[in-house]
Amino acid sequence: MARYIFVTGGVVSSLGKGLSSASLAYLLKSQGYKVRVRKMDPYLNVDPGTMSPFQHGEVFVTDDGAETDLDLGHYERFTNISAKKSDNITTGRIYSDIIKKERKGKYLGKTVQVIPHVTDRIKEFIKGDITNEDFVICEIGGTVGDIESLPFVEAIRQFSNEVGKSKSLFIHLTLVPFLKSSDEIKTKPTQHSVKELRSLGIQPDIVVCRSQKSIPLDQRKKISLFCNVSIENVIETVDVRTIYEAPISFYNEKLDKQVLKYFKLKPRKKVNLQPWKKITRSVLDTKKIVNIAIIGKYVNLKDAYKSLDEALIHGGIANNIKVNLVRIESDNLKLNQIKKILKNISGILIPGGFGKRGTEGKISAINYARRKKIPFLGICFGMQMAVVEFARNSLKIKKAGSSELDKKCYPVIGLLNEWNKNGKLIKGTNKDLGGTMRLGIYEAKLRHNSLIHSVYKSKTIFERHRHRYEVNNNLKDKFENKGMIFSGMSPDDKLPEIVELKNHPWFIGVQFHPEFKSRPLTPHPLFSSFIKAVKNHK
Ligand code: GLN
Repeated sequence: MARYIFVTGGVVSSLGKGLSSASLAYLLKSQGYKVRVRKMDPYLNVDPGTMSPFQHGEVFVTDDGAETDLDLGHYERFTNISAKKSDNITTGRIYSDIIKKERKGKYLGKTVQVIPHVTDRIKEFIKGDITNEDFVICEIGGTVGDIESLPFVEAIRQFSNEVGKSKSLFIHLTLVPFLKSSDEIKTKPTQHSVKELRSLGIQPDIVVCRSQKSIPLDQRKKISLFCNVSIENVIETVDVRTIYEAPISFYNEKLDKQVLKYFKLKPRKKVNLQPWKKITRSVLDTKKIVNIAIIGKYVNLKDAYKSLDEALIHGGIANNIKVNLVRIESDNLKLNQIKKILKNISGILIPGGFGKRGTEGKISAINYARRKKIPFLGICFGMQMAVVEFARNSLKIKKAGSSELDKKCYPVIGLLNEWNKNGKLIKGTNKDLGGTMRLGIYEAKLRHNSLIHSVYKSKTIFERHRHRYEVNNNLKDKFENKGMIFSGMSPDDKLPEIVELKNHPWFIGVQFHPEFKSRPLTPHPLFSSFIKAVKNHK
């Protein structure tokens, strides 16, 4: 039977619970254990799909097409285990399932309540879709004490009681602040946070203390005494220089060792930290820098393009160069300022996006990249805008656009049922916004002798999608005659998946999101190739 590790957080949010869970998962996996990492999100949205990246950061997409919390991206990048739909749940999903069941009379006349019905549904999630995993690590979003997370905390308390302490472990991550004015490390917030957790019936077995400075023995003893955990189970996590150092740092602090000791287990094989050491060294020691402009709408929020930022850094690791991401807000970008704004830029990337705001700025930047032969990568919406730009300025279809943005445009981008044979718009559809996209992994065929074929070195690829609109394939010949090649197509030849330019050193647009499949230990070929082109352009 699997052993369950529950990770809660206290004091403040954004302490790095996701990264801690992911690092622990790597360490256990590396020592020969089969691991799954899951996330429970207390918000009321059914999934993060309809949330603006400003609210909750990036929406991470799994192979099986779930729109999930960005922490699942951390888990995948650190463990290289593909997450599934069954690895993320929200309060909204739980209530939606329960209400559906209630309307069908499935509760046989009972009063439907938080305890036991909501907590039962949470427990079902925790143990659902498990085969022969040795460890299931479950992270609870938010901070202990929030009203929203109460049913989750109650459910893990019940769960532990049911499976027993030998099969369940509680890790609580807290903040141990350093006060500069008094030159002191303060343990009180941790004491209070653990007190809160204990008042909900949970005694943590391990307390992980996030701190700016190493925590002296006296303070560790204090935490051990007040929080009722043994001193070896007070684990510190001091701010790392790069996130790739986190598994090394947790190993040095013996987090994995204490977990195995708790379950009376021994490592099945020796941990391998070499790849992380190599990456950390490469990230910290590389002096050469390239500047890449990310031109989008959500550039002010750090986590809005999390996987993309990571994938670009992975591309840098593959090319031994530091990638400096210059985030440019597309809203106010005018063609006449572009030259100045992009002066020190060696590569341009337009990420995924939704809605009209900022699109003309993106199109101007694409025009600049195309004409000035600057390496360009367009992802999803970025690819769609590259097609619009080419249609307007090269095919001279002045009204070319996407029907997502303008119902009266000439739709070079549109919904599949929107255009007739001549590429004319028939009708727009107005459906629910949640869960109605082309989501998850789809196959694409790559054209022989194309740039994209030389990048992937493969005839077929499988990449993750998250979009509603498609490139209008009826115009393929017109585009290709002018030099924009549809070099990747869906297996039935109906949906353009990749476009590239013939007379350009490196200009690629992809309808999918390659960033979700890039890993620090195995950088994605598209990002490695893009950064290589950027490096050569410099
Ligand atoms: N808004 C576009 C669509 O729905 C692109 C989506 C995206 O970039 N992920 O097709």
